[in-house]
Amino acid sequence: MHTNLAPAGLTTVEAAIRLDADGPNVVAKPVRRRLSARVGHQLADPLVALLLVAAVVTAVLGDIPDTAVIALVVFVNTVIGVVQEVRADAAIAALDDLAAPNARVVRDGLDRIMPAAELVRGDLVRLEAGDVVPADLDLTVAERAAFDESSLTGESVPVHRDAGEAAGSGTVLTTGRATGVVVRTGADSSLGRIADLVSRTAPGLTPLQRRLAALGRTLGAAAVAVSAIVFALGLLAGQPVVRMAITAVSLVVAAVPESLPAVVTLALALGARRMARTRAIPRRLHAVETLGSVTVIAADKTGTLTENRMSVQRAATVDGGRHKVTGSGYTPTGTVLPAGVDDALRRLALAGLLCNDASLVAPREDGEWGAAGDPMEAALVAFAGRCGYDSATERAKAPRVAEQPFDHATLRMTTAHHLETGEYLIIAKGAPEAVLDPERHADLIAAAHEFAVDGLRVLAIATAVADRPDTEVPLSPAGLVGIGDPLRATAAGTAAAFEASGVRLLMITGDHPATAAAIGTHLGILGPGDRVARGDDGPLTAEDVAGTRVYARTQPDRKLDIVAALQQRGEVVAMTGDGVNDAPALRRADIGVAMGGGTEVARQAADLVLIDDNLATVADAIGEGRRIYDNIRRFLRYALSGGVAELLVMLVGPLLGMPLALLPGQLLWINLLTHGVPGVALGAEPAEKDVLHRPPRSPQESVLGDGLLASVLIGGAAVASVVLAAGVVADQAGRPWQSVMFVVLGLAQLGVALAVRAKTSPGGDRNPWLLAAVALSGVLQVGGVLLEPLRTLLGTEPLTGIELIGCALIAVLPGAALRLLRHGRA
Ligand code: ADP
Ligand code: MG
Repeated sequence: MHTNLAPAGLTTVEAAIRLDADGPNVVAKPVRRRLSARVGHQLADPLVALLLVAAVVTAVLGDIPDTAVIALVVFVNTVIGVVQEVRADAAIAALDDLAAPNARVVRDGLDRIMPAAELVRGDLVRLEAGDVVPADLDLTVAERAAFDESSLTGESVPVHRDAGEAAGSGTVLTTGRATGVVVRTGADSSLGRIADLVSRTAPGLTPLQRRLAALGRTLGAAAVAVSAIVFALGLLAGQPVVRMAITAVSLVVAAVPESLPAVVTLALALGARRMARTRAIPRRLHAVETLGSVTVIAADKTGTLTENRMSVQRAATVDGGRHKVTGSGYTPTGTVLPAGVDDALRRLALAGLLCNDASLVAPREDGEWGAAGDPMEAALVAFAGRCGYDSATERAKAPRVAEQPFDHATLRMTTAHHLETGEYLIIAKGAPEAVLDPERHADLIAAAHEFAVDGLRVLAIATAVADRPDTEVPLSPAGLVGIGDPLRATAAGTAAAFEASGVRLLMITGDHPATAAAIGTHLGILGPGDRVARGDDGPLTAEDVAGTRVYARTQPDRKLDIVAALQQRGEVVAMTGDGVNDAPALRRADIGVAMGGGTEVARQAADLVLIDDNLATVADAIGEGRRIYDNIRRFLRYALSGGVAELLVMLVGPLLGMPLALLPGQLLWINLLTHGVPGVALGAEPAEKDVLHRPPRSPQESVLGDGLLASVLIGGAAVASVVLAAGVVADQAGRPWQSVMFVVLGLAQLGVALAVRAKTSPGGDRNPWLLAAVALSGVLQVGGVLLEPLRTLLGTEPLTGIELIGCALIAVLPGAALRLLRHGRA
C-alpha cells in the first residue's frame, strides 16, 4: 500500500497544492461573523429595540430633537458594541493560533515542526510518546506503539498498533514511536466526524460571563419596575402619556449598563492576550478569570522548580568507598575525590553507563555539553566519562540484548548485555528501596539517606553476571550515586511571590522523601515540623492534603487524586505537568498548567501553556487575572451606581415638586457620555499595587460581594442627593433647575469614574484612556447647556459660568467621598 511512498515525504510545493485543494486540517472551521450580522446582533438587543420603537413614535409625533438623540444613542452604542466585539474576537483568534497543535512532519526530506492545520493527505508524520495524532494516519513504522483512543472510543486502556494499522486523529501515542502517512484530514478525519456532531455551536460563555448576564437581566427587571413607577407618577402629575412612555424607556436604557457583556468579553480577551505576551498562553478564556482565584499551585519539582540539568555529585561503592565528583554540567571530564577512581567505582560507573538510554551531545563552538534523553541518565554518562570511560566504545563492547524499561511502579530499570566473554551482564538501577535489600545493605541504605538529606536524588545500581539474558536473576549491589539538580535561580523568589499572594505552593516529586524534604526546605515551603506526604502510601484523603506542602515518591497518575482531594477542601487548584500521564490531572485542575517544552497531549489538556517553562510566569498570570476581575468590578461599581442615581433622581424628583426631573433626551445623553467611552476605558486600568499581596478571592463570592453592592447603593444615593439638592437650590433661586440637575448628574458620574480608578504606586502604570475619556465626556456634558444646537436637541437652558463652576464643585463630592471611603480591593 505504501510502496510508492517516498521516505522523503511530500515536497513543499506538492503540499501547498493539496492544502489548497483540500483545505486546512482543522475539525471545526472558525465562524467568521460578517459586519452586517454583528450590527444585527447589536440591534436585536431588547433595550435597543425599545429605543428604535421610541424613535419611530417620536418621529411620528414630530418630536425631531428626541428622535435625533435616540438615533444618535443607538448609533454610538452599535459602533462601540461592534468595535469591542471585533477586538475581542481578534484577540481570541490570535490566542487560538498561539495554542494551535503542532505536528512533526517530513517535508522535502527534512523533519519539521509545523502547525497541524497545514497537514495534507500523503504527509509523513512522526509521532513520539505524548503526541496527539494530528490526522488519520496509516502507520508505516510502529515501535512498541500504544495509543490511548479514549477520545474516539471512550476506552482508556491503550491499544497496541503495528505498522499497517491505522491511527485515528485525536488519539494519543502513550508509549513507543511511530511514523504514518496522512490519509484523511480535517472534517473527514475520525475526530472531525465526531467534532462535526458536537461542536457546531459557538464557544460557550465563561462562568463569570454567565453570572454577569444573569445580573444584567435582574438589573433590567429592576430598572423596568422603577421606570413603571416613574411613568405612573408622571401621569398622576398630569404629564402626557407618550412623553412619559418615552421617558420610561429612556430611563431603562440609561440605568442598565448595556455595555456590560462587551466590556467583560473584551477585558477577558485583552487580558488573555497580555498574558500571552508574558509567555503564558491561556487556551481558554475562562482561565483568565479563574487564575485570579487560584488558592494552591501544585508544581512538579523536577524541571519546573529545578533546572533538570543533572550531575552526579557523590558516589558510594559497596566496599565502603565514598567519593565526591566534580566537573560541570554534562562535560564528560572532571575529577573524583578523595582518592581518584578505583575498581569498585569503575564498576559502578560502567553499569550506570550501560543501563542507560541517554547520550551526551558535544558542544558547538564555545557552548556546553548537552544531554539527549533523560537528563538523569545523561548525568550517568558524564559520570562514566569522568571515571575514564568512552561511552560509545563501552556500549559497543556490551550490546544490550534485553531490557525492562523504567517503570514508575517498580522505580527501576533493568538491562541485559552480551559480553565479549559470551556471558551476560545484568544491570538494574533505580530507587534504593527498589534495588537494595535493607537488611543486607544497611551500610548503603545509610549512605543513600545521607545523600538524600543533602537534596540529592539517589540511584542504586546492582549487577550480576549470568549465562542467560535473564533480567530476573538475583543481583548484588555495585553502589549508589547521588545526583544533583540545581534549583532554578528564580525558584525561591517564585515561592515567595506565591506566598505573598496567598497562593500556597506545593511540590510534587517522584524522589525520596528525604531528598524532597531537603529541597522543600531550601525553597522555603517546608518548615521544621512539616510533614512530607508519600504518594505510595495508599489513597489520599482531603485530610491528608490539608497542611501538606511536599509530596514525595508521587507518580504522575497520583496527581489526579491530589487535585481531587484539594478541590474537595474547596481549594482552587493550579497543577503543572508535561507528560502523557499528567493529562488527566491537568484536565481536572481548575487551571492545568502545561510546560511549553512538554508533550502535545499535556498542552492540549491544559488551560495555560508556559512557553518558557517558568513558574514565575504563573504568578504574573495570577496578577493579570486579578487585575481583570478588579476592572470588571470597577466597571460595575461605576456603571451601576450611575444607574441607581438616575433611577433615584427620576423617582424622588416628583416628590420634590419636579414632575419630570430630566427629559428623555437628557437621560440618553448622560447615558451616552457615561456608559460609553469611560466605561470601556475602565477595562484598561492597571493593576492595583497590592494585587499580588492579598489573598485570592473566594470562588463562592458573588461578583457584587465584598461590599461592592453596598458601595453601588451608597454611591448612587450620594450622586442622586447632590443632583436633587442642586435642583432644589436652583429652583428656589428661580434658575433653570433641570439643566442644573442635568449637568450635575453627568459630571458626578464622571467623578465616580475617576474615584474607582486603580490605586497604583507612584510612578506606576497609568491609564491615559480613562482621563481622556472623562475629559471628552465632561466637555460634551457641559456643551449640552452651552451650545445652542445641543440645547435645542436636549431641551436645556443656558447656565452662567459661575453656575457651571458651582455645578462642577458639587459634582465632585460623591466621587471624592467614595475614593476616601474605599478600602481594600476594587
Ligand atoms: P520526578 O517526578 O521528580 O521527576 P521520577 O518519577 O522521574 O521523579 O523519579 C522517581 C525516582 O525513580 C527517582 O528518584 C529515581 O530513584 C528513579 N528513577 C527515575 N528515573 C529513572 C531511570 N531512568 N532509571 C532508573 N530509575 C529511575
Ligand atoms: Mg522524572
